[in-house]
Amino acid sequence: MKALRLNGRKKITFPKDSRSGFMPEYCHTLWDSLKITIENVERPCPSENEILLSPKYCSLCGTDFSACQYSPNSLSTSFRGPLELPVTLGHEFSAIVANNNGNSRFKNGDIVAVESIISCGNCRSCKLGYRNACNNIELLGLTRDGGLADFVAVPYDCCWNLREIESIYENRNSLLLAGSTLEIFGCAYHALFCCQNSFFPGCTICIHGIGALGFAAAYLAAISGAALIILIESENDRINWCKENLDPFSHVIGSSESDLYKLTELIFDATNGYGVDIHIVTTETDKATYSLSIDTLAARGRIVALTRGRLPEGLYLDRLVDKQGGIVGSRGQSGYNIYGHLLALISSRTLKPEKLISNVVSIEMALKLLSESNKNSKFVGRTAVKIDS
Ligand SMILES: [Zn+2]
Ligand SMILES: [Zn+2]
Repeated sequence: MKALRLNGRKKITFPKDSRSGFMPEYCHTLWDSLKITIENVERPCPSENEILLSPKYCSLCGTDFSACQYSPNSLSTSFRGPLELPVTLGHEFSAIVANNNGNSRFKNGDIVAVESIISCGNCRSCKLGYRNACNNIELLGLTRDGGLADFVAVPYDCCWNLREIESIYENRNSLLLAGSTLEIFGCAYHALFCCQNSFFPGCTICIHGIGALGFAAAYLAAISGAALIILIESENDRINWCKENLDPFSHVIGSSESDLYKLTELIFDATNGYGVDIHIVTTETDKATYSLSIDTLAARGRIVALTRGRLPEGLYLDRLVDKQGGIVGSRGQSGYNIYGHLLALISSRTLKPEKLISNVVSIEMALKLLSESNKNSKFVGRTAVKIDS
């Protein structure tokens, strides 16, 4: 079977205690000799608790691009999270069940969407209910084989049957395409509603970076009762696309301004001086974004960081202290019945997730995009890869 694979060589792994154990092991590991290829590999055999899937649509995410590229210091891949190479890429996908492996919850031929976070269920984080923070986490398409392949074996409890939204779509193909967006909407859902509790109807959301994740967050905020959504994005194309797709929700302000003073003024003007309840940061960590986010926090406001990286030096925490604000991290979309809630929203036509897809390409084109594109190229919407098997 064919699979889009990322190969690499593990260069240096510092002993775990070399930095007082403060950093997880994957931060010590450097990868070089990165190579992306479409390979012929053996079809996986599902083990107990797994089912065999035939992926049909898999979106390309910023994470995939950073995994395939070197960081600016070129010591390793740009992706700073857990990675184990070689690996079949792809973590945002929908699929047809090819072999239910005796699991009665799924029939062969069922259409499923897949959570990309695989948690152990047994560690302290999992037992507390924070499955996205699992100590033994596995990430599909990053630490174990993902969906850019003819077949993939995944634990059945990461799969969600799309039966309940089948009648919404005119054919299986549109259902599969829509299903491939659940992962990214799930990550936005987790950031807005699960990892902090500052969201309430009538609140103000500011989103930094309007890629697919930013759009998904804006869309969910709009249908959940946010009174105002502020989009900060350097590319006007992305702002316009987001606004068009959020129509008829009209309380959206977009700005490609980079002057901090003007942006601060814009936010306080738009919020009657109160500021923002939730900042969603999907861009690289830079000082301007975090200064602006802290300095415009409303009382008990939260900054949700969805991207990794070093927190900029020289940030003042004054307003964070004054307003009982906070910065929280958010990763993943597992648990909290997130997919269940998304399916309910789709079922009622409150959410039309297919709006996110702007482009469909072949797996060969995906290889080309991942090989050539630089991490900073700004796509409008999500590019989905159609896997013909
Ligand atoms: Zn992703
Ligand atoms: Zn765990």
